[in-house]
Amino acid sequence: MTVPVAPHGRALPILSPQKIRGLKPSLADVVEYRKSGLSLNWIVGCPLECGYCVRHLFDNFEMKVPRRLMSDEEAVASLVQHKYFEPHRTPIQLLNRATDPMLPVVKPHLVNVLRHLDNQGLTNHVLIITRWRVEPEDCAVLNSFKNLRLTVLVTHSGIDNEKIEPVDSNIAAASLRTLFDHAERYRTVLYWRPIVPGLNGSDAHLERARELSAHAHATVFTGLFFRKEIAAFYEAYGLPLPYEDTARRKIMPQAAEKRILDYFHTAEHVTAPWGALFRKTSCAVAYAHGEADYNGHYGIRELCNICPQEQLALCRLAWRKPDLAEVTQDARELGATGTVEVTERAIIVEGLDEPPRYYLQHGYGYQCHDRAKPHHYRQHGRAPIGWKAENGTTTA
Ligand code: SF4
Repeated sequence: MTVPVAPHGRALPILSPQKIRGLKPSLADVVEYRKSGLSLNWIVGCPLECGYCVRHLFDNFEMKVPRRLMSDEEAVASLVQHKYFEPHRTPIQLLNRATDPMLPVVKPHLVNVLRHLDNQGLTNHVLIITRWRVEPEDCAVLNSFKNLRLTVLVTHSGIDNEKIEPVDSNIAAASLRTLFDHAERYRTVLYWRPIVPGLNGSDAHLERARELSAHAHATVFTGLFFRKEIAAFYEAYGLPLPYEDTARRKIMPQAAEKRILDYFHTAEHVTAPWGALFRKTSCAVAYAHGEADYNGHYGIRELCNICPQEQLALCRLAWRKPDLAEVTQDARELGATGTVEVTERAIIVEGLDEPPRYYLQHGYGYQCHDRAKPHHYRQHGRAPIGWKAENGTTTA
């Protein structure tokens, strides 16, 4: 693995229109609305080769050298002029799909875009996810933004199979400590993922994660996206298949979750009744900033049973069931068909794909689900693999 270094002051080249046309359309589209926010990805290509990378889904895994799809200024304009962008409200993610934002050649462009957004006085949440090196001088830059609510999430899996995880997890661990030690205006979150039983679910892995969680403002644990493209990569490289089936959502088996929660919450291991551990990324980010969850997960009350009491109180105060007539009008304008419902847990719509659903969700601070893809009780929006229904049968 060779990590390119930025020649001083030289910007990353921009791909030619012809090369951009050769990319999958979904990769060439620089703005994508995801659950944790409106995601801006104007740089693609990464040398880090994580076996479970979502670039497999974009046929982009072989592109090891990062390249821009447009200038930084054009990228900022694409984001803030996007039809779903709302100043001070829409959460933003930068470079979380096709590269690592802290790679030496990528970082100057990340900082440039952050500077442009901050200079516009925007106070939106901005999430940056990295597993690469973060130095004290980077922290000084991250602390310098005056308006944005910035969170750096550090991915740490502890997986020691080099074919799946070629980047030494100690790099991420060192970055997390550095970020935490120097945090003034930004916050840092331990992004403990992907958790895959058999690969990184041993007591030693759990103990390591628990130790690291003391060097973060919050910790979130999640499972593996195991789509057919990623399964094909595992098979082609002779890697052990972690699951027999693939799934649309992340996989986090019930037994694995229970082990983690028991480990964090038993008196032997912790002094407080609750560790600052979360199932959902937005919950961890919100907690780190002392705010209520912007995804309205409070409606899915069983998600909150591991949340610190003071955070529960914050979310309880902020959570309001929206007015049905108002939601119906908004949903119709976005193209919803069928009946719109507002239950005690979520807004339920038909005929809207993910971007408009996330727009409603972030706008109302209330979950918004597709009637055709129900969330099952206690599975927390994850794949049904490894879960039992309330009557004891498996749900898939
Ligand atoms: S109270 Fe519930 S919704 Fe709020 S941060 Fe905690 S887990 Fe998330």
